[in-house]
Amino acid sequence: MTTNFPTIVIKPGREKPIIQQHPWIFSGAIAQINGDPQPGDIVTVIDKKGTFLGRGYWNVKSQIQVRILTWHDEPIDETWWRKMLKRAIYGRSIQAGAAERGAPFAYRLINAENDFIPGLIVDRYDQWLVLQALTLYIDQQKDMISKLLHELLPVKGIYERSDVDVRGKEGLKSSVGNLLGEEPPPYIEIIEYGKKLLVDVRKGHKTGYYLDQVGNHGLISTLLMNQKSGSLPQTTENTSVLNLFSYTGTFGIQALDQAHVTNVDSSNDALEIAEEMVKLNNPEWLERCEFIQADVFELLHDYAAENKKFDVVILDPPKFAHNAGQVENAARGYKDINLNAIKCVKYGGYLMTFSCSGAISTDLFQKIVFGALADSGRQAQILKHLGPGDDHPVALTFPEGAYLKGLLLRVY
Ligand code: SAH
Repeated sequence: MTTNFPTIVIKPGREKPIIQQHPWIFSGAIAQINGDPQPGDIVTVIDKKGTFLGRGYWNVKSQIQVRILTWHDEPIDETWWRKMLKRAIYGRSIQAGAAERGAPFAYRLINAENDFIPGLIVDRYDQWLVLQALTLYIDQQKDMISKLLHELLPVKGIYERSDVDVRGKEGLKSSVGNLLGEEPPPYIEIIEYGKKLLVDVRKGHKTGYYLDQVGNHGLISTLLMNQKSGSLPQTTENTSVLNLFSYTGTFGIQALDQAHVTNVDSSNDALEIAEEMVKLNNPEWLERCEFIQADVFELLHDYAAENKKFDVVILDPPKFAHNAGQVENAARGYKDINLNAIKCVKYGGYLMTFSCSGAISTDLFQKIVFGALADSGRQAQILKHLGPGDDHPVALTFPEGAYLKGLLLRVY
């Protein structure tokens, strides 16, 4: 065994998930720690008999004390890093192809545990990468990671957006700023289905944008085309989309050549960018879109009471359940907005409804939406189960990675 590393001995009976390649080891599964590791150090994980189980990084401050990087007895050195980064980059060749043909493009390049690199998120926005270090070890390695990334994918610059709450659990503070190369412009322009979008990687949500929803943004125009060729003749004037929790309005922008769009979000900054983007694409579209700063719970309640109806309603709330203890309350919240959203769909129209709470399973989410439908007295069909695109793979060994789920419903 390549073992100059400190070792973590697993309690008998707790080895199974590790052998099955779940990457997290909680403190309760650890029998003994040998060799005085420091937070952020690489450790070797063994069973009571001394058999090698895996190698990963350790942080005593975190509930997840070890995150496994490899299940082979190999060193975690630059060769390992280059191999893993290459794998993730090559896994996005289809997305990268568009960028190389000159289209300003955006996609997730490294999806942490799901790319078998726990704690590391890297998103690409045109010629910039945005890195998010979620754990201490990744934070310590970020300059080396940036250098290798730049060598493998020569972009103009790499910017850091490590300002997420989970870092607190690792004893880390926020860290935001340029890591390598050119500073990004105030807004990076990207193209999504032919529309120009603006991404603020310094202050925007997540690394600037909800890249996990890109594929679903693309469904909107087909739904509207379908709606217009249906039995009821529709025009752009009387076709309507209600885009709830709109952020910068990117579901809506895909609808504006066919419909009137009402974007609703609590963030005024996001709505200002949304308006800017509409202007950038076609100033005439401003006449057929609205930007409403409001609480969606309250606004939907009013709309349902006023019997307002839309051809397409999009419901993409933030994470309501951050852990298992919050599931019950979250479920009530999801049910409330789904009930009122269903009431706001025209006969034969569509509802696209999402949950990005990892603690709410796909099954539970469908049950919640079913409960809302039953209370509404309407009928609905599932046309599609929705999730993120191929640039957000989910490791089969890591079910926690499947946080975003959604349903496309036709409602009668
Ligand atoms: N649909 C967007 C992403 C939405 S993320 C996209 O595809 O890009 C969730 C959004 O909900 C955030 O923009 C946040 O500002 C907003 N939000 C959170 N709570 C809200 C509330 N109670 N009412 C309205 N908006 C809210």
